[in-house]
Amino acid sequence: MENRDKLCVVVPCYNEEEVLPETVRRLGEKLRSLMDRGLVSPESRMLLVDDGSRDRTWALIREFHEKEPLVEGLKLARNRGHQNALLAGLMEAKDRYDLTISMDADLQDDMDAMDAMVEQYRAGHDIVYGVRNNRDTDTPFKRGTALAFYRLMSAMGAETVYNHADYRLMSRRALEGLAQFREVNLFLRGMVPMIGYKTATVEYRRGERFAGESKYPLVKMLNFAADGITSLSVRPIRVMAGLGAMLFGGGCLWLFSLLILFLLGRGPAGVTVAIASIWTAAGLNLLGLGLIGEYLGKIYLETKDRPRYLIEERLVG
Ligand code: UDP
Ligand code: MG
Repeated sequence: MENRDKLCVVVPCYNEEEVLPETVRRLGEKLRSLMDRGLVSPESRMLLVDDGSRDRTWALIREFHEKEPLVEGLKLARNRGHQNALLAGLMEAKDRYDLTISMDADLQDDMDAMDAMVEQYRAGHDIVYGVRNNRDTDTPFKRGTALAFYRLMSAMGAETVYNHADYRLMSRRALEGLAQFREVNLFLRGMVPMIGYKTATVEYRRGERFAGESKYPLVKMLNFAADGITSLSVRPIRVMAGLGAMLFGGGCLWLFSLLILFLLGRGPAGVTVAIASIWTAAGLNLLGLGLIGEYLGKIYLETKDRPRYLIEERLVG
C-alpha cells in the first residue's frame, strides 16, 4: 500500500548560490530514496525559502522549480533572518503536508539522519530533534562559544535541547501548536520544546559548510543568545533583583559598622574602598537598567504586533 505521509523539507536560504545546486541534488536523491522505500508519500517535496538574498539564490530556485518536480519555492519580501524564514516555510507547509523536516541550506546537517527521523515519526513521535554528536569540524572558538551559549541558556532558565540547532522533524499537529505562539521575537529551538507531545532525538554528525561563508558571525551569534534568553524567561530580571538586594543589605551592614567605628573614635575606612564600591554599584545599576531596557524593548516590539514576514512570491505545484 502506498505511503500517505507527505513530507516537506523546509530549507531557509540566504545568499546560498554557491551551495544550492548541490543541496537540491542531494535532497532530491534523499527524497526519492525515502519515497522508493515507502517511508514517505510520493507527493513529498522540498520547500526552498529565499530570505531576501542579494545574490542569485531566487533565480536559482526558480530554475530548479522548473527543472526538478520536487522543488517548491517561497520568496520573502526582504531579509528577515533565519528564524523568521524558517517559520515562514513551516507555516506554508503546515496546511499541505503531514510532516516537515527543517534543515540548513549549507549541507552541514547530515541528510541520512532523515531516515531515522521519519522512522521516529512513524513510531508515533510528533517532534524529532536532530542532535549533533560531534563538534570536531568547528573551530575551537565556535565550540567554546557554543558550549557557553547552552550553559548560559540553561542557567538563565531557558529550556533547550543540548546540541540541537534547527534540524528537526515536526508533525502537522506540532506545527499547528507552534502557529499559536504569536510572539515576534522568535527563538524556535526554545519554543518548540514548549509545545509538548511525544518527542524523540536522533543523533547525527555535523559536517562543515559545503561552500560559502557562515551567515552567523560573532555579533549575530551574541544577539541570538541574548534574544534566546530574554524571549524565553524572566530569570535575568530576578537575578538582578536578588543581586541588588544582596548589595543593599551588605551596604547597610557596612555603613553600620563604619558608624560604630566612628562612635568608637576611629576614622572611616580608606577612600579607595569607597570609590571602588561606587564604581561597582554604578556598573551593576547600569547592567540592571540595560536588562530591563532589553525586556522593555521586547514588550514594545510585541505590542506593535508587526508581521513576522511578508511573502512576495510562491512557486508551488
Ligand atoms: N539564513 C537565513 N537568513 C539569514 C541568515 C541565514 O535564512 O539572515 C540561513 C542560511 O542560508 C542557512 C541557515 O540559515 O541555510 C544557517 O545559516 P549558516 O549556515 O550561515 O549558520 P551557521 O551554520 O554558521 O551557524
Ligand atoms: Mg551553517
